[in-house]
Amino acid sequence: MKTLTGVDRGQIEACLEAGQRLSCEEGVALFEEPDFEWVCSLANRVRERLYADRTTYVVNMHLNYSNVCALSCMFCAFARKSGQEGAYEMSLEEMIERVSLMKGVEGAEVHIVGGLHPDYPYEYYPRLLSTLREHYPNVHLKAFTAVEIDFFAQLAGKSVGWVLQDLRENGLGSLPGGGAEVLTDRIHQKLYRDKMGPERWLAIHKQAHQLGIPTSATMLAGHIETMAERIEHLDKLRRLQDETGGFLAYIPLRFHPDNTPLKKLNLMDGDAVVRNVALGRLMLDNFPHVKAYWVMSGLENAARAQFAGADDFDGTVVDERITHMAGCETPVGVTEQSLLQMIRNSGRRPVRRDALYNLLS
Ligand code: SF4
Repeated sequence: MKTLTGVDRGQIEACLEAGQRLSCEEGVALFEEPDFEWVCSLANRVRERLYADRTTYVVNMHLNYSNVCALSCMFCAFARKSGQEGAYEMSLEEMIERVSLMKGVEGAEVHIVGGLHPDYPYEYYPRLLSTLREHYPNVHLKAFTAVEIDFFAQLAGKSVGWVLQDLRENGLGSLPGGGAEVLTDRIHQKLYRDKMGPERWLAIHKQAHQLGIPTSATMLAGHIETMAERIEHLDKLRRLQDETGGFLAYIPLRFHPDNTPLKKLNLMDGDAVVRNVALGRLMLDNFPHVKAYWVMSGLENAARAQFAGADDFDGTVVDERITHMAGCETPVGVTEQSLLQMIRNSGRRPVRRDALYNLLS
C-alpha cells in the first residue's frame, strides 16, 4: 500500500525486516510521512529486535569547565567573551570537588566540554584530564568535542593524531558527539561558518576511531535545516561508520532557541522530536545505540522515544549548563532512583551501563 507521500509501506517494512538499508529518498519520505505512529512503529520494531524491552542509562555528570569562547555560533546561548557578564571559568580544585559526586560509583562517566578559550594554553587540557584521573581513576572521562580537539591541535602546533594520543595518555576515554550540528555545507555557512565544517568533523572522528578511541555522534535539529539535510547528515554518519565502526551511539539533539540569535524560531514539538529519534534508528542501521537525551528532548519525549527507536535514556546528567543556558526547563540532573522510575513508568526495563555501553546490572 502506498502512503500520501508515495512511500510503499510493504517495501519499506520488508526492507527493514530483512535488515536492509533504507535509501536517502526513503528517509526523506519517512520524515514527511503523515502517519506518525507508523513511522514510530517501524523504528520500534528495529529497536525491539536488537534490545527487546531493555532501556539503558548511565550514572554521569557534565563538567562544562568554562563558557569563554573565541567563536560566536548562531545557535549558542552558552558562550561568553572574557569579562562579559555570565562568563565563568572553573578552577581545577572546583572540578575535583564537583567530580567527587562520582567517586566510588561503578561505571560512572564525566562528560567534559567547554568553549574554545582564547587564553588557555594547550597544556591546560591534558592536565585537567590527568588531575581528574589521579583523583578518580575509575571514572570514565568522555571529553572534548571534535571542535575542541581541532582547536587544541592549533594551540599545540601539532597534528590532531598527536593531540588525541596525548590526551589518551592523560586519561581520555572517549569523545562526545557534539559539534556536528548539521553536517551540510549550507548549514555550516549559515550558522557556524567560523567553526570547523562537516568534512573536518568527520575526519577527526575517523582519526579517533583509527586510534581505537570510541566516539558518539549528534545532530542538532529544529532550526533552519530541511529534512533532506537531516538525511544527508545521517547518511554521512553511516558511511563513516561503515569504514570505521567506531561510533558507539547516535544522539539526536533538539535545538533550544531561547537566548540565541535564532530566538524567533519555535521549539520543535514533541512529535517532531520523537520522529527525529525514529529516523535516526531507521537510517543508522550500523549504529549500535540511539540515545534519547532527555535534557534537551524533555523527560516525557525521551520516554516516548523508547518506543520509537531509542534504547538509551542517557543518564543522571548532573550539572549540565550548555542547554540550560538556552532556556531549557528540564532539571539540572536527576537521581538514579527517579531515572529508574521514569524508565519503568514508560514501560521499559531499566539496565545500568557504563560509558562504553557495557551492562552493569
Ligand atoms: S557552539 Fe561551541 S564553538 Fe560555537 S560559540 Fe558555542 S561554545 Fe563556542
